[in-house]
Amino acid sequence: MEKRDYYEVLGVAKTATLAEIKKAYREKALKYHPDRNPDNKEAEEKFKEAAEAYEVLSNEEKRARYDRMGHAGMSGFDAHSMNMDDIFAQFGSLFEDFGFGNFRGGFSSRSGHSVQRGSNIRIKVKLTLEEISKGVEKNIKVQKFVKCNTCNGSGAKNKDAIKTCTTCSGRGYTVRTQQSIFGHMQVQSECSACHGSGKIVTEKCSACSGNGVVKGEDITAIRIPAGVADGMQFSMRGKGNAAPNNGENGDLLILIQEEKHSLFERDGNNLYLEYYISFSQAALGDSVEIPTLEGKAKIKITSGTQPSTLLRLNGKGLPDIQGYGKGDLIVNINVWVPKSLTKEEKQLMEQIANSENFKPQPPKQASFFQRVKHFFE
Ligand SMILES: [Zn+2]
Ligand SMILES: [Zn+2]
Repeated sequence: MEKRDYYEVLGVAKTATLAEIKKAYREKALKYHPDRNPDNKEAEEKFKEAAEAYEVLSNEEKRARYDRMGHAGMSGFDAHSMNMDDIFAQFGSLFEDFGFGNFRGGFSSRSGHSVQRGSNIRIKVKLTLEEISKGVEKNIKVQKFVKCNTCNGSGAKNKDAIKTCTTCSGRGYTVRTQQSIFGHMQVQSECSACHGSGKIVTEKCSACSGNGVVKGEDITAIRIPAGVADGMQFSMRGKGNAAPNNGENGDLLILIQEEKHSLFERDGNNLYLEYYISFSQAALGDSVEIPTLEGKAKIKITSGTQPSTLLRLNGKGLPDIQGYGKGDLIVNINVWVPKSLTKEEKQLMEQIANSENFKPQPPKQASFFQRVKHFFE
């Protein structure tokens, strides 16, 4: 699905303040809220779209990246691929900000028993530019809560120690009528006696003290696509903390951190390299091998190459994360002028110093600024 501009989604100007963005989001969230639009797929999509736009535009860093790179800069983040529970999990705090209280309240009813959800785990993954250029698979050891093997997550000592909850007759929720912004609403809330499980454990599992989860660790294989950028976040559903009572696992949120490279600087998918040639190479011309992320590349230095000559190596940058080709490697050819000379070298230089060819003859119109500007056109 073609993505709409986030500003357009919220109906705000590009210059909108955070307060304006919040206000606009609140309006959209109310309008398209699923409680108001039951079984309306289109409203649900709009609701998600607004949530996604808000998530980006309310975050200074993400907004700046979006302004610079558009949706391409937001890869890995897409509310459309989430279900509503995910959205509420992720955006729940926003609604609380707006004074909605427990906005999820009316919601959990959809799934009958409300399920406890494990918390999300955030991890940072450091990547080199080499890894980013090819994409990488990493096995990450994550310390987290895992299901207790002794009781298979039930928290009970044995089968007989699990009884149906009498407070909710095993339904897991209680129902009451509440006045809300949407009018009278039947609100189902989690049964406080059994925490929504519908079951009561009379004798606890000793391995997990009845929690159904224990501290443990898990090795998770993470596949990171080529072309990711610093600050991007990916989520892996169900790879976070296990939940008590055999609930739903939380998610594993992976934040990409790019390590600084010793040679290359990055701007979007382009890479920049500063490369020095010798004074004689510049004057005589040469063929040199310059480093790229995929090994060496041969380039020709023409005789009379001036310092700060920019060369563009098409396709030697980083791959686009959306698969739209590759960026370029832009090389600034600099000329190294010897800092000290031997007596012999000095004599040789002095012999040719007054030669007509050694007098600077800068090009007439092209100023530095014009030259750089022209290069990027
Ligand atoms: Zn246990
Ligand atoms: Zn109950």
